Amino acid sequence: MEKVILITGGSRGIGAATAVLAAREGYRICINYLSDHQAAERTCAQVRELGAQVMSVQADASDEDQIIGMFSRIDAEFGPITALVNNAGTVAQASRVEEMSEFRLLRMMKTNVVGPMLCAKHALLRMSPRYGGKGGGIVNVSSAASRLGSAGEYVDYAASKGAVDSFTIGLARELAGEGIRVNAVRPGYIRTDFHALSGDPHRVSKLEPGIPMGRGGVAEEVAEAIIWLLSEKASYATGTFIDLAGGK
Ligand code: NAP
Repeated sequence: MEKVILITGGSRGIGAATAVLAAREGYRICINYLSDHQAAERTCAQVRELGAQVMSVQADASDEDQIIGMFSRIDAEFGPITALVNNAGTVAQASRVEEMSEFRLLRMMKTNVVGPMLCAKHALLRMSPRYGGKGGGIVNVSSAASRLGSAGEYVDYAASKGAVDSFTIGLARELAGEGIRVNAVRPGYIRTDFHALSGDPHRVSKLEPGIPMGRGGVAEEVAEAIIWLLSEKASYATGTFIDLAGGK
């Protein structure tokens, strides 16, 4: 079976590192991104150099019409996906709960929760034998924040990742008899541009003293776990979590 992977938010950070590892594993790769076309092109070039087939699709991975368009393009160019990495996510300015607007909360939940659920819906419509599929794998990129709560920083983000954890368990059990495994990774403080969104690009360096291993992580350390969970080596793992947080 041809291996076709969709990585939402695959243009930068953890998603881009996952695309590079997926290239080495023989996947045809779709890199989705929201707006940074140049970053997507850079990652595509890196993946192409490794000999993999790659396409990039600009789409908001939390908007169902755009998700449908993206899946149709993948169907046409690569065939139906066999692996989905629900990686696209967002965070907002560090604040206390009383300062959070309804707009911020809805945007957080739409991007971090509704988006992954919709992408999983359209993935399983292709993977499940109920609809003629041959199985597959889904990895949700959650966060250590779902366990830690992110008090005083972004409880809304932590809560959105808590929802991703519950969704992972429920969907895994719903699909366990259909040859589709669903798992999640929970990264801790990883050195990507993500932290600039919360207002402090140097956040990881500042928090390092509180990490038991004494350092932040890098995107490749998360990507390794994602690719392993999707592989046959993880054939008995479903509804599980890999924490990549340096002991935090
Ligand atoms: P990043 O470097 O900021 O990259 C984010 C990626 O997501 C970019 O490709 C971005 O596209 C894309 N994206 C954002 N919103 C999107 C949307 N609505 N539709 C499609 N693509 C979208 O972030 P990262 O650190 O790699 O984070 C990836 C995932 O890991 C997120 O779910 C995050 O919550 C999780 N995580 C990160 C950390 C950490 O410390 N970095 C820790 C725990 C969990 P553009 O480039 O076009 O904007």
